[in-house]
Amino acid sequence: MTDRADPLVERMRPYRSSIFAEMTAAAVRTGAVNLGQGFPDTEPPQAVLDAAVDALRSGHNQYPPGAGVLELREAVARHQLRRYGLELDPEAGVQITVGASEALAAAVLALCGPGDEVVVLEPYFDLYAAVVALAGATLRTVTLRPPSYTFDPDELRAAIGPRTRMVLVNSPHNPTGHVLTDAELRALAEVCCEHDVLVVTDEVYEHLTFDDHRHVPIATLPGMFERTVTISSAGKTCSATGWKVGWASGPPELVQAVRAVKQHLTYSGGTPFQVAIARVLDDVESIVADLRTALEHQRDVLCEGLESIGLRTFRPDGTYFVTADVASLGATDGLEFCRALPERAGVVAVPVQVFYADPADGRTLVRLACCKRPEVLAEAVDRLRTAFR
Ligand code: PMP
Ligand code: GLN
Repeated sequence: MTDRADPLVERMRPYRSSIFAEMTAAAVRTGAVNLGQGFPDTEPPQAVLDAAVDALRSGHNQYPPGAGVLELREAVARHQLRRYGLELDPEAGVQITVGASEALAAAVLALCGPGDEVVVLEPYFDLYAAVVALAGATLRTVTLRPPSYTFDPDELRAAIGPRTRMVLVNSPHNPTGHVLTDAELRALAEVCCEHDVLVVTDEVYEHLTFDDHRHVPIATLPGMFERTVTISSAGKTCSATGWKVGWASGPPELVQAVRAVKQHLTYSGGTPFQVAIARVLDDVESIVADLRTALEHQRDVLCEGLESIGLRTFRPDGTYFVTADVASLGATDGLEFCRALPERAGVVAVPVQVFYADPADGRTLVRLACCKRPEVLAEAVDRLRTAFR
């Protein structure tokens, strides 16, 4: 019997609406400054735009191969070798996807099923829980707590058991901005090798680290390459989140499994954008240098602004995001606070509690995007100052 009133399959009912869609709709409706959804309010670098225009005008407009444009698979392989010393086979060890989102969905659906457990660091990017549910698997969490957002290795060990199929890692981490430390990476690697579990690692912010923090892919640790699918995307690196060019890479047998599922999701997508990214990826360091400097400054502008109105902030090591505790503004619940904020202050933020299995863990934390121009961030802080005077 179909339930006509609610046709959505039961396991997806808790994931009906993403908080990003809700908050961006609120920003559009109210004209609020949108520090909710993470996308830059500046254009991609000119070289990136020119590469796409060239690709569009030079005959790259029909389906790419299911694995993705070979030129891009080769560029991804060169990127992983040059930056991290990871050797990939561009034919069998790299799969191009529709953003990192599709790579994550395909990897979880390909490698996990009913009865399997997937361990994630929480708070977690909302898609993780939804695709684990879609696969019929069960989510287990290891909690990152402020101020440092590091995890307790004993909590990690306690979360891993005979049913653990996969650990889904994310560093630099959304929403906390934490970059996993060497000790944390070692603890993760040790436990995964010991229990023979797979790893999917979401590294979309790999180039967006601040101060002296540097991204280290977990696949580079001993014993890890053969059990790890590494996922990234051009969206953040090239300030082109709407292009949705992502990739999964790793040992051929794992990437072939991802490919088997991905081909039945979208088959392929975005030929000219794939070609464009292929042509700029060798030069990625010069493309992101200015972006990283600007973002680090914007992080400071936002943190200092929020601190000037009495908020406790947790300065990120990387990513697009700052988390802050709004308890000092009288808030007792971040979700209620964020739902009222567009009308009350003309600002949109995202409640962190929705990314924790137990909302109590992030009750008064909110996430604000710092990937906006400094004057936009200053305007948001001014609006908050006025509203909570
Ligand atoms: N992972 C994380 C941690 C993200 O923040 C995002 C949002 N961009 C994604 C994956 C999705 O990436 P894409 O836009 O390339 O699908
Ligand atoms: N990754 C972005 C964020 O965390 C956008 C997410 C989305 O819209 N699905 O804000």
